[in-house]
Amino acid sequence: YRQIVLASRPKGVPVPNNFRLETGAVPSPAEGQLLLRTQYLSLDPYMRGRMNAAESYAAPVEVGEVMEGEVIAEILASRHPHYRQGELVQAKIGWRTHAAVAPETVRRVETRGNAPTTALGVLGMPGFTAFSGMRVIGRPSTGETVVVAAATGPVGSLVGQLAKRVGARAIGIASGAAKCAYIRDQLRFDVAIDRNSGRLSDALAWACPDGIDVYFENVGGPVWDAVLPLLNRYARVPVCGLIAHYNAAQSPPGPTSAEVMQTVLRRSVLIRGFINAEFATEHYDAFLEEVGPLVKSGDIRYREEIVDGLEAAPNAFVGMLAGRNFGKLLVRVH
Ligand code: NDP
Repeated sequence: YRQIVLASRPKGVPVPNNFRLETGAVPSPAEGQLLLRTQYLSLDPYMRGRMNAAESYAAPVEVGEVMEGEVIAEILASRHPHYRQGELVQAKIGWRTHAAVAPETVRRVETRGNAPTTALGVLGMPGFTAFSGMRVIGRPSTGETVVVAAATGPVGSLVGQLAKRVGARAIGIASGAAKCAYIRDQLRFDVAIDRNSGRLSDALAWACPDGIDVYFENVGGPVWDAVLPLLNRYARVPVCGLIAHYNAAQSPPGPTSAEVMQTVLRRSVLIRGFINAEFATEHYDAFLEEVGPLVKSGDIRYREEIVDGLEAAPNAFVGMLAGRNFGKLLVRVH
């Protein structure tokens, strides 16, 4: 097998020395176990948090341990009666090519007739994050204005498309002209804003003449600073991620917490953080039921960026934290 472990904890932006490739003999499954062979590894922003020593909502990866992550894998050998060789499953085995696991730790890939890779993106954890955050907290209605950044990624692209489906206006923020064209032409948002061109606050104010009713917070940083003054009375802010801060060694400048709280009070704003897993029991079935067929029919669109080989994972991961991915980032594992 091959696997990538956390070699040391990064200070700021991760560097190649923070990762190490290890090899060894393919494990043999014990009685009752499955031997998995990874086909695709999902790279996700939360992994940056696991590289830090501090506990957040989940325990950190220890130095020397395999990097955490979810994969789609083929069953190479089954020593359990409920699984057959050749079946596709998803499992959280980390950045590795093989693992022998108990069947309780896997589930069959379920994508309602869509490509298996969607189980890690639009029809997997990121898609569910968008769906549940919008359904439980964002709750947009017809005519409202919804803003989301990281808008070409698996979370943001679905947030905006769900907003359009209920008749809301969708404003997407991303980096670069190609991503902005995709947001307008393929995802069919109303406006796309390049976060690197000119004054973000002016562009956002122009794009939102009636203010902002839902700001789906994926990024923090200068985007949040530009959003805050535009929030309408009764605006909702699902706080999903703060990727602008994941590599930061110290807090960035921005409105003080007192200024934020004044806006929250004066405009009766609802700000609520969430981790997708807390909504799974109640909403996961509805998510697959509703979004699965819309992906199949092409009404909901998605984009994947697939890099080749487990060895490419560290560099691709660091690139994602700077916006160099264009779509759901996956590693094809050979
Ligand atoms: P993406 O595929 O969208 O990749 C991250 C994107 O973030 C980059 O492509 C880049 O897009 C954008 N970005 C990076 N740095 C900055 C910055 N400084 N300012 C603004 N944007 C930046 O990732 P996902 O769709 O998987 O995740 C999106 C967010 O959702 C993340 O914050 C993630 O942590 C969060 N999340 C939260 C979950 C939860 O349960 N709460 C579950 C899953 C994800 P661009 O350069 O185009 O702007």
